[in-house]
Amino acid sequence: MYKEACPMTDFKDDVLSYHSFPVAGKVEVMPTKPCQTADDLSMAYTPGVALPVKAIAENSECAKTFTSRQNLVGVVSNGTAILGLGNLGPLASKPVMEGKGVLFKRFADVDVFDIELDTEDPKKIIDIVKTMEPTFGGINLEDIKAPECFEIEETLIELCNIPVFHDDQHGTAIICAAGLISAVDITGKKMEELKVVFNGAGAAGISCAKLFVSMGVKYENLTMCDSRGVIYKGREAGMNKYKDIFAVDTDARTLADAMVGADVFIGVSQKDVVSQDMLKSMAKDPIVFAMANPDPEIAYEDAVAARDDLIMATGRSDYPNQINNVLGFPFIFRGALDVGATKISEGMKIAAARALAELAKEPVPESVAKAYGGKSFSYGREYIVPKPFDPRVIEYEAVAVAKAAMDEGLATNAIEDWDAYRDALRK
Ligand code: NAP
Ligand code: MG
Repeated sequence: MYKEACPMTDFKDDVLSYHSFPVAGKVEVMPTKPCQTADDLSMAYTPGVALPVKAIAENSECAKTFTSRQNLVGVVSNGTAILGLGNLGPLASKPVMEGKGVLFKRFADVDVFDIELDTEDPKKIIDIVKTMEPTFGGINLEDIKAPECFEIEETLIELCNIPVFHDDQHGTAIICAAGLISAVDITGKKMEELKVVFNGAGAAGISCAKLFVSMGVKYENLTMCDSRGVIYKGREAGMNKYKDIFAVDTDARTLADAMVGADVFIGVSQKDVVSQDMLKSMAKDPIVFAMANPDPEIAYEDAVAARDDLIMATGRSDYPNQINNVLGFPFIFRGALDVGATKISEGMKIAAARALAELAKEPVPESVAKAYGGKSFSYGREYIVPKPFDPRVIEYEAVAVAKAAMDEGLATNAIEDWDAYRDALRK
């Protein structure tokens, strides 16, 4: 019955049953206070509840103490860019948004309401999310297509006093940046000298390129390609204001032209668009992050067969160096919520990336190896970012993000005892 009701017939039985049994869906709402007696009832609801109401009306900061708001993130989508599946609408996006809720809770104890909006109008989405600000401590925009996602996020960041973070843009960018920091360290290259080629100038590509520039990569050393090839100065077809920023003076017109002599390739486009010859034309010790999902721009086996000096990462869990957003959003929001951050700044993103790269250098405990079938990991070409099930990720990343928010004056409550905070995160 479930298979008949669901148009995605290639989904395996166990996936459908995971989603449907023993109850439909993946999340539920649980009260955190008892409600067994008449006394409980009068505290949970009227008349007792009037007391926190009045306190919050007098001082909005009291909402942090008397409500769940500060641990609650709204995961908001309109389903216009669901995973790599395209525009399948808001209702079909719900399993993904519920899944996001599962990961937020599992990895960082953050609660989520998933909100699926039946509109493609950016102004309407902006109005609705802004109107929901009293409900949430933060907003994770998800699977909203480019270029609308840029305008929606930029405007909301401006309007809201809570973090608004489009994960398809910045989640990828942050983990990718962490991988780049490690790869640059391992190969002895320098950020300011890196010649970088991007394939894909959508949500992930644009944000990643911006973050690379914030970390020291030079605009003039960065060539961006999209489905029409190189984005060069003067090109008119298929452009928008976000691509314009990265238009460069160059004779290169195709991806193959751009790849010659490049140190870094970042793929956030489609499968099988990079050839072995392109990899062979890159500089010594090439850094290749082929992140199209589920199949990368060049298959792992083909890439390592073409070059034995490369550092290769993909979005997949079945090969070394998985670049996946789950290493970012739960922990970034954890840190931001804990200091009541009003936004997630470029500095906080870089702090998250650096924390992940720093953790990658640490010896990996036995417990992590166990979680990955006894496989051992150590810093090097095949281990440039930590594993999501590494229990140390939360303390490294959330602490770094919280500290950066405080340093930048974006925190509305201060953490003073960092050791105690770290201990609390560990539990
Ligand atoms: P998006 O906003 O739709 O952008 C896709 C970009 O790819 C567009 O700029 C598009 O060009 C370009 N493109 C499409 N086909 C191309 C081709 N054959 N050659 C060159 N460029 C091409 O999508 P997105 O959210 O940025 O995601 C892009 C890809 O990255 C997806 O496969 C996604 O699964 C993957 N991704 C992976 C991760 C990860 O963690 N591993 C995270 C995020 C995204 P036009 O602008 O000309 O249309
Ligand atoms: Mg997404």
